[in-house]
Amino acid sequence: MYEKEREELLERLVKWGYLSKPEVIEAFKKVPRHEFVPNNLKNYAYVDQPLPIGHGQTISAPSMIAIMLESLELELDQKVLEIGAGSGYNAALIAELVGPKGRVFTIERIAELAEFGRANLKKTGYERVHVVVGDGTCGYKREAPWDRILVTACAPEIPKPLVEQLKTGGKLAAPVGQHYMFQTWMVVEKRSGKEIRVRECGSCSFVPLVGKYGWKED
Ligand code: SAM
Repeated sequence: MYEKEREELLERLVKWGYLSKPEVIEAFKKVPRHEFVPNNLKNYAYVDQPLPIGHGQTISAPSMIAIMLESLELELDQKVLEIGAGSGYNAALIAELVGPKGRVFTIERIAELAEFGRANLKKTGYERVHVVVGDGTCGYKREAPWDRILVTACAPEIPKPLVEQLKTGGKLAAPVGQHYMFQTWMVVEKRSGKEIRVRECGSCSFVPLVGKYGWKED
């Protein structure tokens, strides 16, 4: 189902320059985005736009997800933490990229969304992704350290515990901004000990990261 639409979307993302890495393109080919959106929005699953998934949250636009995954430089067998499980779609793509020996954990603060994400991952065959309910700004210490951390909601600054829980040589990517209109996609590399390298990779727009090291709840 929707194979032609998925193929056409991927062709556009390649043409527009969002997708270039063969392994990322392959992951997008395999994961059915229409299985991760609410039933009434399935026909829009292969349009390049974010879609509502309930509770005021969204599944990001495919072009933004392409930027996230290409910048994170995932490799086979890595251990990855995602903050903001939402629909589970990103986590399924990550699971494809790290392969069957890789390990993927995704944290969601809204329990109902965690359940939605978990159900979507199960029906598409990605039960091996662990969905955890909690405040992802604190990371997930019991499974740390991480090769990669992907943050899919915007914080005023990169939460400190996440950098602490990265392996040396590990990478973290996150939207960071003081205002919902002005956000930057940041890629952080932990070199050795406390030395980190931060790259700014363009502007973006995400829902807020709410928690101890993010925005305070209203
Ligand atoms: N990655 C998701 C997907 O594939 O559908 C989309 C994520 S959506 C743009 C951002 C998510 O981050 C929302 O589901 C939101 O509830 C969640 N979130 C916000 N603050 C959080 C926190 N402190 N810990 C965990 N999840 C959080």
